[in-house]
Amino acid sequence: MTTNTKILLKTKCEGLPEESDFEKTEEEIIEPKEGQIKCESLYLSLDPYLRGKINGRHISGAIFPGELMTGEVISRVTSSADPAFKKGDLIISHSGWQSHPVINAADASKIIDLGIPISTYLGILGMPGLTAYAGLLRLAKPKEKDVVLVSAASGAVGSMVGQIAKIKNCYVVGIAGSDEKCSWVTKITSMDECINYKKENLTEKIKKYCPQGIDIYYDNVGAETLQAAMEQLAPYSRVILCGLMSQYNSDSMPAGPNPAWIIKARAIVKGMVVYDHEDMRVDFLSDVSKWIKEERIHYLEDITEGLANAPAAFSRLMRGLNTGKTIIKIND
Ligand code: NDP
Repeated sequence: MTTNTKILLKTKCEGLPEESDFEKTEEEIIEPKEGQIKCESLYLSLDPYLRGKINGRHISGAIFPGELMTGEVISRVTSSADPAFKKGDLIISHSGWQSHPVINAADASKIIDLGIPISTYLGILGMPGLTAYAGLLRLAKPKEKDVVLVSAASGAVGSMVGQIAKIKNCYVVGIAGSDEKCSWVTKITSMDECINYKKENLTEKIKKYCPQGIDIYYDNVGAETLQAAMEQLAPYSRVILCGLMSQYNSDSMPAGPNPAWIIKARAIVKGMVVYDHEDMRVDFLSDVSKWIKEERIHYLEDITEGLANAPAAFSRLMRGLNTGKTIIKIND
């Protein structure tokens, strides 16, 4: 008999998450009550914000030991007790790290078939894609020939920021953590340059590739990377603070970069929270699906097979060892 496999948080991670911080349980699959749907999970998204939830520092609330790990999931409806859904529908919801969830129909959205692989609804056509689209176009407002610098440039958010900036005719420099990632950034996406910050001197390379200064810095990392970018800001530049990969695994918050650079550049600094930009979703889906079909947007997915391997994949993501959008394939 098929059971519902669930992965729970076992202990509040100390530093980097380990596989032993999670535990697997099995339970009988329940039948949906009125207004509910029963689903088979296909793809689970692993995202850095989950580490913030474990720390109790994320805007969407905390996850406590003993609770089901949360996360966005693409599922197939296997039986429905709600008139809006039928068996076979593909949906997206926050049903978490479980194989056969029963969820409230009101919490699910049907996936529109745009002729693009459905896993992309967790990446370039999903939350990370909207983060890049809204953060760049609405908050940073790129102009033609702007110099754009983006960190974690091969990742789900960063690769979209860089490629959308290229579509808007900007000059784009990525920052990434390996030669392989940099090679993908410059050879497969259209970004102009990429700095391997683990091997090269970041400050020197930013000066080399952005001699007139940076007009837009899209920050996914914080700490030294943010500091190095701020030192080369152009007058009236925009800095979008989107993520803090450098500090999610730490219990304390490090001191920030020196504000002298913001004053000197008369820069505008904006914090990005994707939940504020839901109103852009229709334009986002229309633009990005068109760009994908025109082959102007490329994407990398880091897919691990099997729900039981989600803790190991999450541990890799939080060490920066992923290449592209981190996804768990649960069922076909
Ligand atoms: P990615 O696919 O980019 O994966 C994270 C990457 O961060 C790693 O692969 C690694 O790439 C890089 N990184 C840099 N420094 C570190 C470090 N110290 N430890 C670990 N990794 C590091 O993830 P996402 O695209 O999903 O997310 C990118 C950022 O955007 C995250 O900070 C995330 O929290 C943020 N975000 C913010 C949202 C918002 O609303 N504000 C919404 C969605 C995401 P490399 O090897 O190249 O350094």
